[in-house]
Parts: sequence; structure tokens; C-alpha cells
Amino acid sequence: MHRAQIHCCWLLFAAGCSAQATDQAPQTTGTVTFFEGARLIVGDESAPIENSAFLVENDRFTRVGRKGELEAPPGAARVDLTGKTVMPALVELHAHVGYRKNMTNTVENFTRENIIDHLERFAYHGVAAVLSLGTDRREMAYELRDELRRAPPPNTALYFTGGQGLAMPDGGPGVPMRYAAYGVTTEGEAREAVQEMAARKVDFIKIWVDDRGGAVSKLPAPLYWAAIDEAHKHNIRTMTHTRELADAKDLVRADIDGFAHPPWRERDVDDELIGLLKERPNVFILMTLWASRNEIYGGRPAWLDEPLLRETFPPEEIKQLERSDTDEGARAAWKAGPVPRNVAKLKAAGVRFGLGGDIGGISGGQFFGWSSHMEMASMVEAGLTPAEAITAATRNSAEFLGLDRLGTVAPGKSADFMVLDANPLDNIANTRRIARVYLRGKEVDRAALRAKWTGGSSN
Ligand SMILES: [Zn+2]
Repeated sequence: MHRAQIHCCWLLFAAGCSAQATDQAPQTTGTVTFFEGARLIVGDESAPIENSAFLVENDRFTRVGRKGELEAPPGAARVDLTGKTVMPALVELHAHVGYRKNMTNTVENFTRENIIDHLERFAYHGVAAVLSLGTDRREMAYELRDELRRAPPPNTALYFTGGQGLAMPDGGPGVPMRYAAYGVTTEGEAREAVQEMAARKVDFIKIWVDDRGGAVSKLPAPLYWAAIDEAHKHNIRTMTHTRELADAKDLVRADIDGFAHPPWRERDVDDELIGLLKERPNVFILMTLWASRNEIYGGRPAWLDEPLLRETFPPEEIKQLERSDTDEGARAAWKAGPVPRNVAKLKAAGVRFGLGGDIGGISGGQFFGWSSHMEMASMVEAGLTPAEAITAATRNSAEFLGLDRLGTVAPGKSADFMVLDANPLDNIANTRRIARVYLRGKEVDRAALRAKWTGGSSN
């Protein structure tokens, strides 16, 4: 049935056919598909629309409402989604693409082909856009970003780049990503690095303020104050990786825009920090919980056996997620620890959360796409409601990246959405029960991607 729908759309498109205008629907051209019957999660925390209908014309949503109130324009293909749930595609703000390939993690892996593979893995999992946060190799990342942005290939997430990021020399991200970053020692160098990246039109500036337990030197305050100021002069937002509460407070005072790797994963926030964040309601927070998966889930989590994980990642990679050094006691300790307490306080202060799991980073592994769903689930473990976690991962993250076409299902937005077999508002794990993914109005060919990754077997 679904093949027939694609075929029909293709004919419509090939014939250059325009549907007739009616009282109910505007005149349409090109590919027009009417989706009806799904429970629709808009992505803005509003109540879901039960028994929805929405129209996708080419790459956009043009009408969104209730079945029976919206009519399909003549000639539109129809897709019956009765029993399914639709939600917006995700926006992942903290990834490190390119270095991971199967079980390896090297600079040599940072190729066009490997980055596109990672973007396909995100697309497979319903992630519409990905920000690679400060570790891209300058010799190729910008050209590839520009090429992919001019004409995004089907079956890929959109690629955004934070360029190289700033730290002290040898003080940035972990090896092998370390030497991608700018090493700066003066305010002048910090400003120059930002200017260079601004000339390449980076989508964000990443700033590491972390001594890695004394192993490297930490970027001094005057340098990050200069970098943030320079970035804002160029209308570029800034995001930090930092682990000390005192540094976090000073970064907020310096007007940092967001936290990619916040100290409150490890220690309690205090009233002073909450007060600073209340004064700056636009600062956003990525909780970055995926790295703590062993503590959060304890023992042998049930998700190890989920079809979604097994359909794209080989057994030897999944084995990396099986750990024997945590137990249910670790989970209880995490639940009683600082993260859930902090999330409650941050929520009460009105802080805005986004989606960022640090996938591809040192502790993140290579579970591109999958980890974005696990980050959402972990935010719920930490105290967000499923609706809040979904809004963080969709509308909020799109806003932080400045993408006004993504993040919600609404007329005028890019038609990027997931069709799920079960309702994630009941159980956030249901975001992983993906039936179909549409990006920019086209269905992602998940079967072809799966076949590529699993050597031809269809599941
Ligand atoms: Zn990171």
C-alpha cells in the first residue's frame, strides 16, 4: 500500500499535475499527500490532536487539523495512519560526527563518506538536524556542510557545524578529536579564532572550560569572556562544556548561550546559580545524560533487546553497551543523586532544556541516532515529563539552533516527522517504536539503509 502511495505521488509529480482548488483546500502543485487518523503530537506541549489530519505539499506541512474537518485536495495521495502516533523529527545539538566507524575512533575515519553515514543513521532514527559540536576537521567540514546544505541528499539529517571550538592548547576534547580545536592562550587569539570561524559561517561556537581532573589546563576566564563577546558581535551563539559550578556561574555572567555538558550532572546546583539562570531565561541546558547510561538504567537494561537497536547495530557493538559493573544499586543511587534534584530545581526556575547526548564523544560511542532517543528517555528518568522531553528535543532544540522550519508539526514548517507504533506520552520508550520517518516531505528509505548496514538482511 505504501509503495503504491509513493508511486502515485511520483506520477503526480512527473506529470506536473496540479490538484484542483476547492473551497476547503488551496491549490496544490507537485507532491501532495494527505495523512489521516494519527494521534498528532505537535511538539509544543499542547494536548495531542487525536484522529488528526495533515497535508504535506512537497517538503512542507500546509494544513494541520482534525480528520473530518480537513479535506484531502483532489488528486492528493492518502496515507491512513489510524492507530499510529506522529511527532516532529528530533534536533540533536551535541554530536561529534566523523571519527567513529564500527569499533574504531580515529582521525582517519573523518571522511565525507563516514559523515554522511552518520547523518543517515540520524535520519533512520528520526533526527532531522544535527549539530556537530566543535570537533570537525577544518580541511573538509565546511565544504561538505555547504554542499549538503545546498542540496540535502535524501535519507540524511541536516548537518550543522560548530567548527573547531576553543580551549587551551592541548586542553580541548578527548583524543582523537583534540587537535581539531583551536588552542588559544591570549584574548587576542581567542577573538581571532572566533573571527576565523565566523568567516566560515559556523553554526555555533563551542568553548571548553575544563581541566579534565587536572590533566590539562583550563581556559582562563578572560579568554572565554573575549570569545563569547566576539561570537555575539558576529551573531553566533556559544555553548560550553564545563564541570565546575563556579565556572558555570562565571560563564552565565559572561553571557554564554547554552550548556552542552553541565556541572550539575555531577554536583548539586545552588541558589546563586539558579538566581543567575532566572535572570537569563534564554540560557539553555543540554543535560547530556547518555554518558551516564550505566548508572541511570543499572543492571542489564531491557532496551538492549529492543528491535531498533538490533536492526542497525551489529552484536559486537551492542555488546559494548552491556556492562557488568553496574547494578540496580547504582540506579537507586543515581535516582537519589544530584541529577534528579537539579532537574527539579532547574524546571522550577523555568530553565529551557534541549537535546544533546554527546554522541560520538569519548563516552558516547557510535550509537548515532539511537542515543538521541535514549537522551530523551533519560531526561524523563531525571524528572521531565514525556511531553517536556519531547518539546526539548523538537521545538526547543530547533529554536536554539535558529531553525524556524523545524521542531513542530504546523503549517509552513518543513515536513519532518516520525510515525510511531505507540504513544510516547504514555511511555517515552515508545519514541523508539518507529514505523516510518519523513524528512523534508520524503519518506526515509529505512529498509535500504538497514540493508546497507546489516549486509543485505532486511532485519
Ligand atoms: Zn561533546
